[in-house]
Amino acid sequence: MLMLPDDFRPELLPAGDADTPILWFVFAGGDLLVRSAADGVELPVASIWPFAKLPTMRRLYLGSLYGRPCHAAEVEPTIPPPPGMRFEGLRALWTRLDEALLGVASHALQLIEWDRTHQFCGRCGTPTQRRAEERARHCSACGLTAYPRLSPVIMVRVVRDGQILLARAPRFAPGVYSLLAGFVEAGETLEQAIHREVAEEVNIKVGNLRYFASQSWPFPHSLMIAFTAEYVGGELRVDGRELVDAGWFAPDALPGLPSAMSMAWRLIQDFAAGTA
Ligand SMILES: [Zn+2]
Repeated sequence: MLMLPDDFRPELLPAGDADTPILWFVFAGGDLLVRSAADGVELPVASIWPFAKLPTMRRLYLGSLYGRPCHAAEVEPTIPPPPGMRFEGLRALWTRLDEALLGVASHALQLIEWDRTHQFCGRCGTPTQRRAEERARHCSACGLTAYPRLSPVIMVRVVRDGQILLARAPRFAPGVYSLLAGFVEAGETLEQAIHREVAEEVNIKVGNLRYFASQSWPFPHSLMIAFTAEYVGGELRVDGRELVDAGWFAPDALPGLPSAMSMAWRLIQDFAAGTA
């Protein structure tokens, strides 16, 4: 599961010895710099920036993992990788990069995206500066402080008579179905967001909402909050825009499913295991 590892300590400034080798999380666009290793891929490790020919657009100290300092860096999206290395998206690295490192990479990607998109004050347009005492960017002209963004997204697994509701969005890979999900609107509770999304997307009513789990989803800065629910009423009908198909599926007749890295996959596996 994609999450910040328990052994990671977020920090604003390096605490330890300057000679300690650093884990470098280097991004070009949304892709992480890796090299092949015996059992998957690994990150560059060096006590100083190891790529003199690779100019960085920004660097951020993240904290420490197992006592080892972790730095994030961003390079131009079009720059070729150093010899023997390559840039890969985090989804593609699932199960190939160590899970703890992938969790820190997810953290790094979100902070870099936030830092890149908050260079200027959203209120008065003045260039912002990083704060030394907290993870924030500050405008010295008007005093506005910007913190890393998180966008809450609800996801819901709806079950009716032992069958699970799965739906297909036009952007999904061919044959893939997933659970209903949507952004929480300003002022809404999570429960209201679920009732609204389910009604909007498939025209049904649900009840007996139960919290299931949450997961960070760094594309670009979502927090997925998953619930289970039961069908209450209404006739299944997709909106034809956000969704192109939806249906009830038995656990032994599931269609193509989303990545095992996703919250949807966990919820669907839990359903299949519980009804087996
Ligand atoms: Zn300002």
